[in-house]
Amino acid sequence: MTEGRRHPDGIIIALDGPAGSGKSSTARAVASALGYRHLDSGAFYRAITWAALQAGIPADAWDGLTSAELDRLDVHGHPGEAGYTLTVGGAEVMREIRSPEVNAHVSRMAAVPAVRTWLMGALREAGARGGLVADGRDIGTVVFPDAELKVYLVADPKERARRRLLEQGLASPSPEDVEAEAARLQGRDEIDSTRAVAPLARAGDAVELDTTALDFAHQVDAIVRMARARGG
Ligand code: C5P
Repeated sequence: MTEGRRHPDGIIIALDGPAGSGKSSTARAVASALGYRHLDSGAFYRAITWAALQAGIPADAWDGLTSAELDRLDVHGHPGEAGYTLTVGGAEVMREIRSPEVNAHVSRMAAVPAVRTWLMGALREAGARGGLVADGRDIGTVVFPDAELKVYLVADPKERARRRLLEQGLASPSPEDVEAEAARLQGRDEIDSTRAVAPLARAGDAVELDTTALDFAHQVDAIVRMARARGG
């Protein structure tokens, strides 16, 4: 079924939502089920953040970053079969971009309008032909407003924190660990939702999916079924 499809290689699926709502792992699994590529837009903001930290550019100077300075940070996303590999100065940084230091600074970088403009071209180019599952904060509202399917993932903050800690290898997180992680996630949500440019928001035509009580396989399956119904 190709009804509603607007791109030659398949539909675009936009998955947005707050930190720790499971967007990236869900997007990866949905892309794999459909034979599509996964575009993790947060990974690009993370790579820019890591590059700036490595280059010793202090966070209070990020607001003044120019596109020439951003070019010099030498951040690139290389398309592969399933997704994108991020490099800085030619070296792969897939592990580095998940560090606590990047977690603590990335929302600050992502709030800089020049950084968002700089990245927009690369993200749109990645989706030009469709056949893509893109996840982030503004994918359905700003990056791909013509996406054939938009899903907005939500989950209870403590459940999001618990999943995040399990993912980080903490087998049985204590209530204190969960509280602290939930506070970090909510801090990031606050910056992402209140920034002036492209804030975290649900697109008017997005389907909201609350994953608090859903297991992972069900949540992936629900999205794959919606995607197939829209030509994916
Ligand atoms: O999705 P992830 O948690 O890796 O994203 C890291 C950060 O990148 C977010 O907290 C947000 O500040 C920023 N981001 C964004 N717009 C996107 C994707 C991520 O501002 N489309």
